[in-house]
Amino acid sequence: MMNRIPFNKPSMVGCEFSFLEEALERGQLSGDGYFTKRCNERIVKLSGSPAALLTHSCTAALEMAGILCDLKPGDEVIMPSFTFVSTANAVVLRGATPVFVDIDQHSLNIDPNQIEAAITPQTRAIFAVHYAGFPAEMDRLNQIAQAHGLMVIEDAAQALGSTYKGRPAGSLGDIAAFSFHETKNIISGEGGAITVNRRDLVERAEIIREKGTNRSRFLRGQVDRYTWVDIGSSFLPGELVAAFLFAQLEQEEVIRQARLALFGRYQNAFADLAQQERVVLPWHSDDVTGNGHMFYLLMRDIDDRDALIGHLREAGIIAPLHYVPLHSAPGGRRFGRAEGDLSVTDNTYSRLIRLPLYLTLGDEIERVIDVTRSWLSANA
Ligand SMILES: *Cc1c(COP(=O)(O)O)cnc(C)c1O
Repeated sequence: MMNRIPFNKPSMVGCEFSFLEEALERGQLSGDGYFTKRCNERIVKLSGSPAALLTHSCTAALEMAGILCDLKPGDEVIMPSFTFVSTANAVVLRGATPVFVDIDQHSLNIDPNQIEAAITPQTRAIFAVHYAGFPAEMDRLNQIAQAHGLMVIEDAAQALGSTYKGRPAGSLGDIAAFSFHETKNIISGEGGAITVNRRDLVERAEIIREKGTNRSRFLRGQVDRYTWVDIGSSFLPGELVAAFLFAQLEQEEVIRQARLALFGRYQNAFADLAQQERVVLPWHSDDVTGNGHMFYLLMRDIDDRDALIGHLREAGIIAPLHYVPLHSAPGGRRFGRAEGDLSVTDNTYSRLIRLPLYLTLGDEIERVIDVTRSWLSANA
């Protein structure tokens, strides 16, 4: 019986246990203690943003972004349909409307050419997603936003350590959201962070994250008691999560290089089949560098996709498809609207397969490659 190869396998990379122990010894288990501060500092360095705050998920960071954009009922936010539900829910929870536009067929990121047509007097923001860890075309998005007075939010859930024109993901818009869910590169089970690039929004971000109180100012000794000053919720993780996360953040470079090496092995292994146009491989412009978050294949059509997924499953290899486009999901129809025909999104969904990629995959990657290649050749 051959080992099953899962799609993802979370792993520890160094000091997780000793930092957990240290957190317990330090005696503070609630949030914003020693390890949270160290994580925030590290994320400031990795993201190039002036301010980073841990959250309990990327979903929470996106919800904070929705509040920081001051979204209200009737407002509209432009985003790709090819994304995770949390991008849209952050808008819907404010009573605002997600407006779904198509992606670029090469980058699979929001297509800047589709945005102008979706802008109305109600448009307040663009939520860009850095799909597979490759940053969206941020200069174009920021130009459009500036011309129309819109906020730009990066859903950088998958993109810690990636760059655009030499600048790191997280520093490319007004606000960014990262994920440390166990399926991402840097993990703490559930976890996330918000980075705030507009200094005028940093204090409000602290307040929203601390139940609408000015507790952060109190902890810095700037006020002598803390009180309710704005809307907010509890968006911060406890210290045990931060301690685990800090061990991972310390190894960000090692993790990224190891994942990029696996990504490169896949890329080389399928290069000839891509040349023959049997499959399409991940593409990115010269403006961006990735972080080895995800490797995918674009198949000929949905039957080709399902047949390969089934074949891999029989060989014990889990290779899932990805996002059901939000504009056609029941929630998307109910809460959002689509602009344009979104044909690239629908087409991409029907053809995309993600291959296993995790830190401890090692030479098992050759089995994924062999099984996939032999099926592709037999089904040329
Ligand atoms: C993973 C992911 C999220 C959600 O992250 P959580 O930390 O699980 O809340 C949001 N958006 C994108 C693009 C993601 O990949």
